[in-house]
Amino acid sequence: MQNARRRAGADTLQFGLSMSRPGSRRIAITARLEYPLPGLPEPGRLLEVADGVHWVRMPLPFALDHINLWLLRDGAGWVIVDSGFGNDATKKLWEAIFRDQLHGRPVHRVIVTHLHPDHLGLGAWLADRFKTDVWMTQAEFATAHVFWNTADGSLQQRQAEMFRRHGLDDSALSKVSAHPGAYRRAIPALPVTFRRLIGGDSVIIDGRAWRVVIGYGHSPEHAALYCEALGLMISGDMMLPKISTNVSVTPLEPEGNPLGLFLDSVKRFGDLPSDTLILPSHGQVFHGLHQRIEDLLAHHAERFALVAGACARPCTAAELLGQLFKRDLDAHQLSFAMGEAIAHLNYLMHAGQLQRTTDSNGRYRFARASA
Ligand SMILES: [Zn+2]
Repeated sequence: MQNARRRAGADTLQFGLSMSRPGSRRIAITARLEYPLPGLPEPGRLLEVADGVHWVRMPLPFALDHINLWLLRDGAGWVIVDSGFGNDATKKLWEAIFRDQLHGRPVHRVIVTHLHPDHLGLGAWLADRFKTDVWMTQAEFATAHVFWNTADGSLQQRQAEMFRRHGLDDSALSKVSAHPGAYRRAIPALPVTFRRLIGGDSVIIDGRAWRVVIGYGHSPEHAALYCEALGLMISGDMMLPKISTNVSVTPLEPEGNPLGLFLDSVKRFGDLPSDTLILPSHGQVFHGLHQRIEDLLAHHAERFALVAGACARPCTAAELLGQLFKRDLDAHQLSFAMGEAIAHLNYLMHAGQLQRTTDSNGRYRFARASA
């Protein structure tokens, strides 16, 4: 049981985020956020957070033990936003909700914020059940199919090569050797067709406009939904109250700068009114969007300073781990830690603050750029 649980966690965390992952330490200033709701929804029960907007919590089989999903009243039916992890436990809870709380009313559409298994896991299952479509952005849809169709281990092989170039030795690499097919096991079926969400467009639900707000860096083209009439945003994983969103360089794009994209996206969220009620995928509904943005920017600025300081001498991502993460890392934490360390290094390299060279062992070393 313990092994099965640990394995599910390790598999999933390749694509998700974890409350216990090493980069997710709490940020000190969160006391300024306000949590206006008195409690959490009971398991398998709906809690109305605004007119026609209902909160559902579903379990997750790893350290981050829950995900928030949203059910929006839509005339005589419902719209579901995010679907839960693709396992029997979540299916059973959905069945109970359909039976006991939706009163036989149909689900008109299934919206998925992004491709991670806790969000997309049962998207196709829900859409098939109600003979409707999954709505998501094109990059999330397409990349989900890439992950799903690299169950042969080819992507994991690329990840190992990337980590080796960034300084992980054979012993550490053997620990992070990922499980091919993990993504497919966490999402039993993918939608084959989809309805496309486009940034800036609005989806009309129950007569109200919900504007698609794209965010980058955590996943390829993450869709949050902002409803001006209700003064709230379903923020997915882009804006969480207590943990910093995972932003990692992935083997799909090893030269990428996801942290630059993420921080630009976070700043753009600041265009929304400061009193917007935020409905995140993990943790509690909160007020304090602008404070949270400040906290996230400050958090990453601190990390950049730490990394730049460490690169006074040329060092690899693996050599940075001890300074960035102050405790021992298990196998899946190590994978996350490497992805995040490389994200910070690539950011500073793209910004011209670090230079990358390749040493005689074929490893990337980063050092402060000479003036
Ligand atoms: Zn995610």
